[in-house]
Amino acid sequence: MMRLDRIILREIRLPLREPFRISSGEMRERRILLLELFDADGASTWSECVVDDAPNYSPETLDTAWPTIVRWLAPRLLGAELDAPSGVHARLEADLRGHLMAKAALEMGCWALAATKLGVPLSTLLGGTRTHIGTGISLGIQRDIPTLVAKATEALAAGYQKVKIKIAPGRDVEWISAVRASCGAAAHLMADANNAYTLDDADLLQRLDGLDLMMIEQPLAWDDLVRHAQLQRLLRTPLCLDESITSLERAQDMVALGAGRIINIKPGRVGGFAQSIAIHDYAADHGMPVWCGGMLESGIGRAYNVALASLPNFTLPGDLSPSARYWTQDIVAPEWTMDGTGMVAVPQSAPGIGVEVDRDRVRALTVRSEELRAT
Ligand SMILES: [Mg+2]
Repeated sequence: MMRLDRIILREIRLPLREPFRISSGEMRERRILLLELFDADGASTWSECVVDDAPNYSPETLDTAWPTIVRWLAPRLLGAELDAPSGVHARLEADLRGHLMAKAALEMGCWALAATKLGVPLSTLLGGTRTHIGTGISLGIQRDIPTLVAKATEALAAGYQKVKIKIAPGRDVEWISAVRASCGAAAHLMADANNAYTLDDADLLQRLDGLDLMMIEQPLAWDDLVRHAQLQRLLRTPLCLDESITSLERAQDMVALGAGRIINIKPGRVGGFAQSIAIHDYAADHGMPVWCGGMLESGIGRAYNVALASLPNFTLPGDLSPSARYWTQDIVAPEWTMDGTGMVAVPQSAPGIGVEVDRDRVRALTVRSEELRAT
């Protein structure tokens, strides 16, 4: 059904509208790895590898993903007859450890290419049922409490259905209390700690229980499940796991241990769509809601997240902010937008990813490229 005969890798530097700060640092422009996949019959699509510049979210970086794709992953796909995109994950996974974001960029590209060839939207091929998806905003750590309160207030007024606040030691209980006091009891608030705490902070994290948060995301180590289970037993607020869930098996372990009650599915983190769908289905069977987080994607990566988030158990708002929140100008047309009630439309009218890539802009932003061909 598919045979890839060419893959082009490109690194672009996409300027951010404002610096993005998390517990581990700050970023002013995003180094982005884009792939373009070509089928032997002429069809093509774009995909995005969601790696960061530094190994502060996962061990992968742009500079590990590039050579991994060139040397190890692309040769497994180029020239091979691929029956269906659902089989690509197993082909990339066999005797090749880790590198899940690099694998996902290729695997998800194969799903989009298959959708393009079938003439259906990517969301349809994935089993999506929603035409519109609620979105939340993710606020990085701000310089002071009044700035955080102002940004949260502004986001809720703009229609965002959830405000996620990055926290770190010294910028947690007091900061979120101020937002709760100002925005009122009805505001949907949550915290994301990106691994900034240990079990020694359990008392402090218990104080967040009084603030009626939707969830606390990944407070403990990036690969931990056991301590999250211990912490969850001490908290009323649901824990949501992000970094720790890298496969269906980790999601099963999470449920078995009671390590949390919600999963943030990022398809790049779990190796692509086949695992994302498997985790989604498993969570649905266990009454566990999921939502789709963001990795500061360009409009190309956003298209993949929106398609995935159209599946039925994505019942909580995703981090699917409009292009204009992050970028001075995105690389897709139309740019991603949301309406005044915080809803993002799932592309329905075009096959594949549903947005056009602005090739001139991509060319202007490209700092290096490499073309791989089937031999
Ligand atoms: Mg997170």
